[in-house]
Amino acid sequence: MIGKTVLGRALTAIHFTPPGYAKPRPPAVLFGAIHGDEPVSQLMMERLAEELVERPPGRDTWIVPVVNLDGLLAGTRNNANDIDLNRNFACPSWGEHRRPGYNPGAAAEDQPETQALSSLIDRVGAERLIACHATYRMVNWDGRGEQLAHEMSALCGYPVEHDMGYPCPGSFGTKYGVQAGLEVITLESPYLLADDAGWLEVRSALRWCVDLPA
Ligand SMILES: [Zn+2]
Repeated sequence: MIGKTVLGRALTAIHFTPPGYAKPRPPAVLFGAIHGDEPVSQLMMERLAEELVERPPGRDTWIVPVVNLDGLLAGTRNNANDIDLNRNFACPSWGEHRRPGYNPGAAAEDQPETQALSSLIDRVGAERLIACHATYRMVNWDGRGEQLAHEMSALCGYPVEHDMGYPCPGSFGTKYGVQAGLEVITLESPYLLADDAGWLEVRSALRWCVDLPA
């Protein structure tokens, strides 16, 4: 357990360690459903985890299938306090460009789900961060993520986008990519059912992120 939601539900991460012969590489953290109305991102994370049980990744890997568990169960983008968790991260732009429905919270990282994810990343020293969203079908990058974005794009066929086309103050990518300079990818998959066609669209790109052959 890495923390709890506003409503007290447990947030969990699954940890995979590489085989002993693998060269040590900085850990990766991948997560889904920071927006509760994007359940396909949870399914992607669970499918990847199932494959890593069969064959361990080439780097230390943490998977958080659901960050916004209360929102997922309620079918809402925001958490139980009606905060958009992807506007709640601590960075200089936090709280700018307020828009209806994108409430950043009363203070940066005042939400337990944001705290849980940030604490995990800090604690394990992750340098590769993969945020799974829906539904734009693209690979967005921040910080040092450009090369990885192009590699993933070649595997999944989604275009690489550096600019989302609108300001994202207090977003995960701003904190960890723009500010901290880590390797940050926002993978936007389409709304797909949990069928093989949907999974196969992103499978190779996600396996590549954790140094597993496509
Ligand atoms: Zn999203």
